[in-house]
Amino acid sequence: MQPIMEMKDIGAIINTYDMAAGEALGKRESHTPKIEAPAMAKPEEPFMLKVSVGPHPNTVEHSIRWIHLFFYEEGRAFNPIMLGKFSFNPGTTDPEVTAKVKLGKSGVLHAVEYCNLHGLWSAKKEIKIG
Ligand code: FE
Repeated sequence: MQPIMEMKDIGAIINTYDMAAGEALGKRESHTPKIEAPAMAKPEEPFMLKVSVGPHPNTVEHSIRWIHLFFYEEGRAFNPIMLGKFSFNPGTTDPEVTAKVKLGKSGVLHAVEYCNLHGLWSAKKEIKIG
């Protein structure tokens, strides 16, 4: 018997540049978050983390609604750490954010964005602390 609908876990419905398939292939350039951060930083020394999405339409009908930033800390029992949440008003606010971040340990920065028509997209970048 076929299930009525496929019940995927949330991780399986977050698109990434490398995993995008089918219709999502043509959307990955305009939806994958671009993460700008240093490859290395000193412990507890602030650095700027910039994340942007696009070029992408920015209208009430179709826009990037939010970007959430997470950090997966190496050796931590439970991950991730929430770094910041940013919501955007269609038409007036482009999906580009900068956050001042300081970290104690190495790990992986993750950015997740939501487009109201094209769903969830994420990207990641490793950062070494030391
Ligand atoms: Fe979109």
